[in-house]
Amino acid sequence: MKIPFGRPTMVGRELSYIAQAVEHGTIAGGGMFMRRCEAWLETNLPVQRALITHSCTAALEMAAMLAGVGPGDEVIMPSFTFSSTATAFVLRGATPVFVDIRPDSLNLDERLIDAAVTSRTRVIVPVHYAGLACEMDAIMARAEAHGLMVIEDAAQAHLSSYKGRALGTIGHLGCLSFHETKNIISGEGGALLVNGPGLVERAEILREKGTDRSRFFRGEIDKYTWRDIGSSYCPGEIVSAFLLAQLEEADRIMARRRALYDAYRHGLAPLAATGAITLPEADSAQANGHIFWLLAPDPGTRSRILERLNAAGINAVFHYVPLHSSPAGLRFGRAQGELRVTDDIAARLIRLPIHLGLTDADVADVVAAVTACATTAG
Ligand SMILES: *Cc1c(COP(=O)(O)O)cnc(C)c1O
Repeated sequence: MKIPFGRPTMVGRELSYIAQAVEHGTIAGGGMFMRRCEAWLETNLPVQRALITHSCTAALEMAAMLAGVGPGDEVIMPSFTFSSTATAFVLRGATPVFVDIRPDSLNLDERLIDAAVTSRTRVIVPVHYAGLACEMDAIMARAEAHGLMVIEDAAQAHLSSYKGRALGTIGHLGCLSFHETKNIISGEGGALLVNGPGLVERAEILREKGTDRSRFFRGEIDKYTWRDIGSSYCPGEIVSAFLLAQLEEADRIMARRRALYDAYRHGLAPLAATGAITLPEADSAQANGHIFWLLAPDPGTRSRILERLNAAGINAVFHYVPLHSSPAGLRFGRAQGELRVTDDIAARLIRLPIHLGLTDADVADVVAAVTACATTAG
């Protein structure tokens, strides 16, 4: 591909930090670089505690354990999301209840929450698609009214905000991803943001194979022991060393991603004005430059545009097969009514290449190619 969809890029001290980790004598989890990443998050986000994990999936699994959900319990979430949003809860025996999304933000439609709540509902999982915030005031209000916990899947939303509040810090728990496809990366990586004091100690135990090893490392107890369920959710130090180098350059990374997003939005505005495509309403200040999507007028046109772009060496892609219609979604979850917006959007959405390796000239090439393909593909 002339222009790949994504590409991991180093931004500074990644390799020197990895060398330091090895020289320091610890490359297993729980070391100096993991603590420095956590300190960075705790300084830059208003959280009680940030726990680095080896993936956002791991953070979601920890959140599901902390929520205490079990067989028969229901968890409200969008269907237009990644499988991990659901698997974390399915692993505990709970049932995902898929609710439709809003056509403007592609996020969970908060107006449909009440109708989805039953006596078994325990948790709402808002997913901030493309880094654009869900309607958190309304979601928190519905959660409070029904006595539910809110776990934000902020995998795509690191350093994006809602009414001035960082995403991932508004619900009871928030989950971030540093997967190589996200804005800030460490290959595989994630974080659990704990936004209240009551859950911190147990979260540390769940991450350390059910032991109180974190307290032992801090010198708070003289031996550690098995306390609870849990798993191995710490990243190794090589991953944390890479991540710290990225976090330290977060402003520069985010500014470039947002500039790319704006360049696409401005470049494609004339095409959108003809009605050939639909662009996101959100500007780059509201979103975070993680994904740039557009909508084709119908599924057939979407396929033709994607074929032509890829034939021209531009790796544009579609996004989720909605979870409610996937094999596992049919087996483990249920849809709340007809998910008309989800089905419609999923069949028409196109994502354009966006990554730090993209030049302004690349963006101009993509804009020209999309314009040519979309005007002849209808
Ligand atoms: C990327 C992503 C995840 C999974 O993140 P990993 O770090 O790869 O485990 C979960 N939910 C959403 C919405 C994502 O985009």
